[in-house]
Amino acid sequence: MTRRRPLFLALLLAFLASAINAPKANAQRAASPQFSGQAAYNLTKQLLDVAPKRFNGSPGHAKAEEFLKQHFAPEAAKGNFVADTFTATTPAGLQTMTNYIAKFPGKKDGIIVLVSHYETNYYLRDIDFYGANDGAATSALLIEIASVLRAHPPEGYSIWLVFDDGEESVSGKWSTADSLYGTRHLAAKWSQDGTLSKMKALLVADMIADKDLNIDYVENSTPWLLDLLKVAAKNTGHSASIFKYREAEEDDHLPFAARGVPVLDVIDAHYGAFTAALPDGYHHTDKDTLDKISAHSLQISGDIFLEMIRLINQRP
Ligand SMILES: [Zn+2]
Repeated sequence: MTRRRPLFLALLLAFLASAINAPKANAQRAASPQFSGQAAYNLTKQLLDVAPKRFNGSPGHAKAEEFLKQHFAPEAAKGNFVADTFTATTPAGLQTMTNYIAKFPGKKDGIIVLVSHYETNYYLRDIDFYGANDGAATSALLIEIASVLRAHPPEGYSIWLVFDDGEESVSGKWSTADSLYGTRHLAAKWSQDGTLSKMKALLVADMIADKDLNIDYVENSTPWLLDLLKVAAKNTGHSASIFKYREAEEDDHLPFAARGVPVLDVIDAHYGAFTAALPDGYHHTDKDTLDKISAHSLQISGDIFLEMIRLINQRP
């Protein structure tokens, strides 16, 4: 991710949210078909092994693209895995970027899109920034969701998985011009070709493998999707893992929100303790490594995403 925009009411609201979301020991667990947090964790490790640093133009970025292509060979064979390559004008000059889209056709007219960025920050290229939680684990999460979708093809809306490039700012000074390159490009393209009008919802996965997982109430998400997230967390027994903090986020949901698509940014922007030495925790530091994430948190996030898909399909 992203840049957080804290609100002055955040602490009060966090307190209220935690009071409302006290854990329910006997919450019912909805049937979520075979998503494995451990498999998603293993995929994260595999991705980090071959592509620890994935900044634009690096060997690791190319390896990450190869990793995605390998995992979506079955979809590629059917023409359902496409590369969307474009040239971005950045503070560091022109950069070639590529989004990847894996499509799982459903039986109802309409598309639910899940999004994770896969690159690491260009401006952090000289430190050991691996983005285990920031980019790697959510890409792995979507790859594991794909294995569920292969076993259980969508009965409702089509599901498209987007692995976007250029989410991070290139310069390190986040601005609307220097961030969200991949999703800005894709939203414009899908506006032109009519895809946007078929989208029922777009859900962004970002930094949700944190061992200490708590998914934020992101105020610039679409209200009915925030309501649905609360229901999804309850249905899967994970109410204690959401809405401790409340803020607006600048993330991959925004280019689509600006074009009228219902969006939900599923993010935990509180990653590690905020200290004088690490004012934003592990975020965008060399501490964002595999040991800070867990299979358990990936299980929670995967359960919630699959339940969200089920709930969106139930809407009239
Ligand atoms: Zn980031």
